[in-house]
Amino acid sequence: MIGVPDLLTIAEALARVLERVVPLDVEDVPVGAAAGRVLAESATATTDLPPFDSSAMDGFAVRAVDTPGGLRLVGQSAAGRPFDGAIAAGEAVAISTGAVVPAGADAVMPLEETSRDGDVVQIGDVSSGAHVRPRGGDALTGALVVAAGTRINPAQVGALAAAGVAVVRATRRPRVALLATGSELRPPGAVLAAGQIFEANTPLLAAQLAAAGADVELLPPVSDEADATQAALERGLAADVLVTSGGVSVGPHDLVRAALARLGVDEVFWRVAVRPGKPVAFGVRGGTLVFGLPGNPVSSLVACELFVRPAVLALQRARDVGPFYLPGSLAAPLRRDPSRAQLVRARVRIEPGGVVLEPLRGQESHMIATAAAAAALVLVERGEGELPQGSAVRYLAL
Ligand code: AMP
Ligand code: MG
Repeated sequence: MIGVPDLLTIAEALARVLERVVPLDVEDVPVGAAAGRVLAESATATTDLPPFDSSAMDGFAVRAVDTPGGLRLVGQSAAGRPFDGAIAAGEAVAISTGAVVPAGADAVMPLEETSRDGDVVQIGDVSSGAHVRPRGGDALTGALVVAAGTRINPAQVGALAAAGVAVVRATRRPRVALLATGSELRPPGAVLAAGQIFEANTPLLAAQLAAAGADVELLPPVSDEADATQAALERGLAADVLVTSGGVSVGPHDLVRAALARLGVDEVFWRVAVRPGKPVAFGVRGGTLVFGLPGNPVSSLVACELFVRPAVLALQRARDVGPFYLPGSLAAPLRRDPSRAQLVRARVRIEPGGVVLEPLRGQESHMIATAAAAAALVLVERGEGELPQGSAVRYLAL
């Protein structure tokens, strides 16, 4: 198009989004509800882990210097019920996994390697420290367990709980309002009249953004009518993030940008050199980030991955906001586009040499049903000619 300046690249557009992100407030979250939340303050161990020298096996706690030999059984140490006292020369204590290694003992002989006759146990040669989990061997009191900026995964929930952390400081979840625009849209399951289609974008975006930690509110879809559009947008502007779909192109029924402007939204950019997703718009009003995503479902999906998800993570103070590209190689050649980067839907095959990406046939931006077979969006940077089969590329996992 004549007179149109070069479109922003994906990286330039994302930088402009992230520049406008003001991280949200921090709150207390019980550790059991912390999965998926971003830690705002590093969490440290409240005790040594394990908190005492503990047994790694069911067996007998002994003094290694007394072995091999027949040792006298003087008691037992069970998990949560320690042996009361210390072991003297020639003595052994029956011990279970996770139980305190009694004072004086420095090794554990596994049960299956012993034989017992009354209160005498025959113990083979065992070296000092064998089958003992030393106090603090996993973490010392005050040691870092999970660093600030981490999105907590299930294993980390376990680590925090084990370290005695009952409550973490986490950034509150961003409230994200989703608004579909388009007079043709009907909810899935409705009977379609002539010219109507099922509304796919808000369920899709809700799933993507909930997975990024957002607290999603679905606004009722709005028809392509200026006043109704403006009223719906006004409502959505109460959220931390307003994401609309449709109505951001150049047609006479594309009303979203003008309505946002009337509502005082300061447009930061419109259109990015990417396919699909080019007409994406981004603006800000007060503390609200506003994304106008294109209506074609695949465009909406791609623009959300590239721009909205990182913003939602940045609002939560995540250290890494993505997009999280992974390495793979192409199973078939792909044509570059001289003017735009592309995100190409592909199947993923795990082969001994690594991940192989098989581009799907049917890459048009309305083809959401075809996209259901894809597990990857392959990034093809803009350029001339073709990326040959076998080329090393980066992709986003879907
Ligand atoms: P638009 O960006 O409004 O011009 O829409 C582009 C294309 O995407 C049109 O074919 C719309 O019918 C379709 N579309 C828009 N919004 C949605 C939606 N929420 N769900 C499914 N398709 C949509
Ligand atoms: Mg539309």
